[in-house]
Amino acid sequence: MAHVIVITGPSGVGKGTVIRLLRERMPSVRLSISATTRAPRPGEQDQVDYHFLGAEQFDALIAEGAFAEHARYAGQQYGTLRSELEESAGEGDVIVLEIELQGARQIRESMPAALQVFIAPPSFETLRERLVGRGTDSAQTIDERLAVAREELGAQDEFSEVIVNDRLGDAVDALELLVQGQLRGAVD
Ligand code: ADP
Ligand code: 5GP
Repeated sequence: MAHVIVITGPSGVGKGTVIRLLRERMPSVRLSISATTRAPRPGEQDQVDYHFLGAEQFDALIAEGAFAEHARYAGQQYGTLRSELEESAGEGDVIVLEIELQGARQIRESMPAALQVFIAPPSFETLRERLVGRGTDSAQTIDERLAVAREELGAQDEFSEVIVNDRLGDAVDALELLVQGQLRGAVD
């Protein structure tokens, strides 16, 4: 079985950035490509950043049982296809799922051995600044994401592993240590 690592935390906290830097250090770490009904952002590519699907296609896949987990977030559907997990089924393989809270809870139930890491911001205000600074979302979308973020931050006690993404390099160091520990079997 591959090592499944769930990375969760509010939108804009830096999950994508931390995972990208982790993969530069550990090229064997695979990232599961999620399916979503949201529209691609400028520069995002289908099959690379996401499997971009229509709402009907997404619902059909739910009905087929094709998802290991799925959730509605800010009015759109997101989910991890079982086929993404099956591609990395080898012993010693590491696959990272970058997913929101409801999906992380589903994986906690279905795959209790998976390492779950919550990435937290140094403060709520920093989170807002990062979402604004990223420049990918409208003011309305940012407000929606911040409203969801309040709930998500309230759930961080559910996670035994919490990394505060203040200095980026420190956050990547902390995640790398956790992943190495998981590979050695040192983390439950
Ligand atoms: P997420 O994937 O959690 O939505 P991103 O990785 O897209 O978040 O990061 C959101 C924004 O914050 C990006 O513009 C990114 O460059 C920036 N960022 C990420 N980590 C840090 C950090 N430690 N310090 C300052 N800015 C950061
Ligand atoms: P974004 O629209 O910014 O790419 O993602 C919005 C939120 O959806 C983020 O918190 C991201 O982690 C989450 N997300 C991305 N893919 C999945 C997935 O496959 N399942 C779930 N549950 N959440 C996902």
